[in-house]
Amino acid sequence: MKNIQYEFSESFAQKMDAEDPLKKFRDRFFFPQINGKSAIYFCGNSLGLQPKTTESYIKKELDNWAELGVDGHFYGEDAWYHVRKKSKPALAGIVGAYEHEVVAMNNLTSNLHFLMVSFYRPDKYRYKIITEAGAFPSDMYMLETQVKFHGLDPEECIVELSPRPGEYTLRTDDILNAIEVHKENLALVMMAGLQYYTGQVFDMQAITVSAHQVGARVGFDLAHAAGNAPLKLHEWGVDFATWCSYKYLNSGPGNISGVFVHERHAENPDLPRFAGWWGHDEGERFRMEKGFKPMYGADGWQLANSNILALAAHQASLDIFEEAGMKRLRAKSELLTGYLEFLIQEINGDSGVLEIITPTNPAERGCQLSLLIHKGGKFVFDEFYQNGVVGDWRNPNVIRLAPTPLYNSFVDVFHFATILEQSLLKFA
Ligand SMILES: *Cc1c(COP(=O)(O)O)cnc(C)c1O
Repeated sequence: MKNIQYEFSESFAQKMDAEDPLKKFRDRFFFPQINGKSAIYFCGNSLGLQPKTTESYIKKELDNWAELGVDGHFYGEDAWYHVRKKSKPALAGIVGAYEHEVVAMNNLTSNLHFLMVSFYRPDKYRYKIITEAGAFPSDMYMLETQVKFHGLDPEECIVELSPRPGEYTLRTDDILNAIEVHKENLALVMMAGLQYYTGQVFDMQAITVSAHQVGARVGFDLAHAAGNAPLKLHEWGVDFATWCSYKYLNSGPGNISGVFVHERHAENPDLPRFAGWWGHDEGERFRMEKGFKPMYGADGWQLANSNILALAAHQASLDIFEEAGMKRLRAKSELLTGYLEFLIQEINGDSGVLEIITPTNPAERGCQLSLLIHKGGKFVFDEFYQNGVVGDWRNPNVIRLAPTPLYNSFVDVFHFATILEQSLLKFA
């Protein structure tokens, strides 16, 4: 795969598409229209496209509700009571976990807070949290307010790691070194698995091993990694993780989040948590009695009964992931993003208009490439959009492009390149 000779030609892109074992999946999605044509949609990092099957999955639950009313909870194989577990096999596959280590619930930021209740337990000696500088704002606010909730000072407790001067991404060695430097006081490493701005995938395994060696816990926000980058959360020994389902997981705007809690915490009675009836022992849930008994594993972190319509949309997408398979998706993703990188480099040359800041090594990235714009600013992005490309602009000066292996093609990437070529003529 590494030796592939990319070519700047439409016939090459067409040949790659013809040989793509996942090519049929593109037709399973609705593409937004721009100027009467299907968009070149490179924005699955922000909101994944709608599967054509989503409507029928939701419709089925609406029909059950119409026909059965409250009996829908327990009637038949697909009773809502059980439907809540349906997402487990696919989620476990996507994040590399056992089924009892994952559960779909709440929203991402809510889950971050709930998991912090269990896994950030500062004391006199251990109170620091290592995170990446420039984390997604919700994560920054979450950390800041969690620290304050414990009566501590965010300035003192939150250690933000920045790339070296002149560099855009963090070196693994620098992360591991920071863990060593702060080891006496380190309670937690809580960072992105895949950084939303730069597209960098952190070495989650190395970080987890180092943090555990110094007695700290480790959690990852996988908003941009789930359904995109290869993950082996169980094997790596990560303590907890959470993600959203509306980015690469195509489950619809604001849809349900997922949670991973490592098996080693499945029955730990010392972990405090904020509980609700849905995390209570299933066999006794409807006894309506006092005394919380958590379910085994990640299920024990559930609070409330989830939105069945939202879960239906989630499942429509997860069924597609199961069919496509993460291995095949990742194989295509490396080729597709490699092609985009090749074409951008060819076109940009030494024009100085832009620079790719996402790591070149496929192991250190998912499908997203982040383009730092040196000349033309947001006009470069507006120019893309006028020509039917949906990417996204992130202040101060980055364009993110995410060709996703499920529904993007090599011809999409080629067409984008021709648009880029035209727009660079204006700004070089
Ligand atoms: C998208 C994203 C969020 C969004 O959080 P919600 O609770 O789903 O609104 C949070 N953190 C990161 C890192 C993200 O990429």
